[in-house]
Amino acid sequence: MSHVLATYANFPVTIVKGEGTWLWDKEGKRYLDFCSGIATCSIGHCHPALTKAIAKQSSTLMHCSNLFQIPQQQELATTIVEDFVKIPGKIFFSNSGAEANDGMIKTARRFGHARPSKSGQPRYEVITFNNSFHGRTLGSMAATAQSKIQQGFDPMLPGFRYVPLNDIDALSKAISDITAGIMLEPIQGEGGINEVTPEFLHYVNKLCKQHDLLLMLDEVQCGLGRTGTLMGWQAFCPELEPDTISWAKSLGGGFPIGSFWTSDRPIDDQGTPLSSLMNAGSHGSTYGGNPLACAASSAVLGEILSSELPTNAARQEQRIRQEVSSWQHPHIVGIKGKGLLLGFALNVDSIPPDNSTPPALQLCKALMKNGLLTVPAGTETLRWLPPLNVSDDEVDQALSILKETIDSL
Ligand SMILES: *Cc1c(COP(=O)(O)O)cnc(C)c1O
Repeated sequence: MSHVLATYANFPVTIVKGEGTWLWDKEGKRYLDFCSGIATCSIGHCHPALTKAIAKQSSTLMHCSNLFQIPQQQELATTIVEDFVKIPGKIFFSNSGAEANDGMIKTARRFGHARPSKSGQPRYEVITFNNSFHGRTLGSMAATAQSKIQQGFDPMLPGFRYVPLNDIDALSKAISDITAGIMLEPIQGEGGINEVTPEFLHYVNKLCKQHDLLLMLDEVQCGLGRTGTLMGWQAFCPELEPDTISWAKSLGGGFPIGSFWTSDRPIDDQGTPLSSLMNAGSHGSTYGGNPLACAASSAVLGEILSSELPTNAARQEQRIRQEVSSWQHPHIVGIKGKGLLLGFALNVDSIPPDNSTPPALQLCKALMKNGLLTVPAGTETLRWLPPLNVSDDEVDQALSILKETIDSL
């Protein structure tokens, strides 16, 4: 009998070992891993640069508290700001994506106090988008515009308003005196690999300027190279001026860590930097930014940069798109996403219902049997998220398993 709370309807497969893009279960069966712990194992399993960094730091110092100076944290923050975001700003470290988003939402609330509405009322509302996913804490769940995530947990934390993604008209109408920010995933991951359009992102940028709102990006799944660009938004609108950005997943390569960045841009005539609103005592995390997590993350980010993994992600995307489009497969109606955050939109009419198992889960299970691990995004999209350093040969093997499996559905 299990003593673990059954919050996951997980597969009856026990993974015991990993190396690069490969995993082994306890029966010794080998799988190609195009799930990567849901976009987490960004440089593959047990990459020597990562295991060495963890071994070295864990035998020197794992934790000492943010009450003290932590050079590993400073080094990682410098890498994120100078080599990834490349816009002046400051970083807060958490342990997960949901926590990073909570920190971003708190930043928006502080901003709404510093820049109240004309009547003097603090602004606090954050606009998010239908089918978004921002996490499972009370704050990030309220930001998540999906009833299946919120069901049975009401009342929700107030201060969110939901509009359809890429709907310029609905977004303009949703802005009011109490709006403090607009928060979005450049590519909705859990919601089905739904991309923001460049025109829409431009418009969000414009509205934020016009109405003095924070532009808040959740790049927990799409950030740090996965889209073929260092930042997810750069795949759609390189000239965007974000105010806050959150990450987790890829950031630790499998070691738990999350973070958010806040711009140094002045918010008033006195030149008060946005990042200064989150001052001493305003936020915290016991484990967040500990020396071990930061050393691990620095190794991951170092590998992403030095091996130019965003370039590989973009190249593999082209190879995958070319091959899968050439099939003109009746079960696949389209390919969505960017880089190695890809979704195959399935033809729900041609894949017959199997009890109550949705098409994406059916295909995911059949692929697993054939040695390829993937993950559904919603009910009708199969998601591919291999490690960013996946090789040509591994992609070719995955493509041939996909072809064979989908032919047999
Ligand atoms: C996974 C995810 C989160 C939540 O991250 P956790 O580490 O599970 O808390 C938030 N936003 C997006 C876009 C995600 O994909």
